[in-house]
Amino acid sequence: MKCKNTVLVRSAKKIVMSNGRTRISGTCSRENCDGKLSKIIS
Ligand SMILES: [Zn+2]
Repeated sequence: MKCKNTVLVRSAKKIVMSNGRTRISGTCSRENCDGKLSKIIS
């Protein structure tokens, strides 16, 4: 199950991937949802 990318990410972590790009990884901040979110920010 994927959450919409527009929701806020809770306990976000920045992860630098092996290709040098940065990803934000965290959990969905919506109530009753603990979906995982991940976005590439650079
Ligand atoms: Zn969610």
